[in-house]
Amino acid sequence: VKDFSHAAPAPVAVVVDLGGTRVRAALAARDGVPWGRAERATDRRGPAAFVDRAAGLVDEVLAIASETRPADPRLPVIVGVTGPVDPDGRLVDPPNLEPAFRGFALRAALEVALERPVLVGLDTHLALLGEQASGALRGVDDALYLTFSTGVGGALLADGRLIRGALGMAGEVGHLPVSATGPRCGCGERGHLEAWASGPAIAGAATRRAARRPGSALAARLAALGRPPTGADVATWSAAGDADAAAVLDAARRAAAVGVAALVAVLDPATVVLGGGVVLGDPAAWVGACRRHLDRKGLQAHRGRVRIVSAMLGDEAALHGGVAYARLVRPELLAAPGEVG
Ligand SMILES: [Zn+2]
Repeated sequence: VKDFSHAAPAPVAVVVDLGGTRVRAALAARDGVPWGRAERATDRRGPAAFVDRAAGLVDEVLAIASETRPADPRLPVIVGVTGPVDPDGRLVDPPNLEPAFRGFALRAALEVALERPVLVGLDTHLALLGEQASGALRGVDDALYLTFSTGVGGALLADGRLIRGALGMAGEVGHLPVSATGPRCGCGERGHLEAWASGPAIAGAATRRAARRPGSALAARLAALGRPPTGADVATWSAAGDADAAAVLDAARRAAAVGVAALVAVLDPATVVLGGGVVLGDPAAWVGACRRHLDRKGLQAHRGRVRIVSAMLGDEAALHGGVAYARLVRPELLAAPGEVG
């Protein structure tokens, strides 16, 4: 049995980052800093399996909490989920999940499974608040956060406030049009940022490029792989000097840079944070591409002025931001024992 007695502060919530690939959970203190983490592959066989996997992980971290003190039965669970979610915690039309998840009442299902209050928000909203609490956005009031992984998402901070939007889904930058034509997006349209610069988009672009160049080194690498490629494979080949792989990544980064410049013109942020596994595999290349494009094509006032940095908290940003998100949306959930009821 691990001894947490001198290190662990009292948890005020369990925070869950429910992604399309991984689900992570942790206990969070009043300042939002997570500990007692657990992680599993996301179970996508259907909504019921999805909820079971997430609930099992919450029970695991609650067991860690109860090693030092009895867990508060009202301890809330704050969930960041990928894709649009309505104010009642229902998945609206998740473009990167199977059709069975459309309209699924995730918050209600988790409350039944866990017998605790549950708050569901967009993972990117939690991640931006995490970077603001303890990462790259400390002390920043105007910022743009973009994450490139299985999908492309984002969040906006203006005048010190997270912009949630009328439907609670502001910052869905993955569906920002960055070209008039181009690859088809998961939402059905063409030329969206996500269709250029997500991990699956990069893998798809490499596959199509290899098919057009059957004698290329890229085609040989794909054939030798014996499975469909990932964005990370393409990055590895590019780093090894494969010119076709490098060209695919250049196109992805150009699309990202066009999108960032458009958003900077609209929002006037002091800082742009780029995160997600695709970027964090080679942050300097992505930050550099956005920097160069903004300094050449951006509004004169923005050239050289907007700070562009990679995410500091990596894939843990949403875990860091759960408490701040609850404080913003449903502060009563964080009341200490004795303060309510
Ligand atoms: Zn789209």
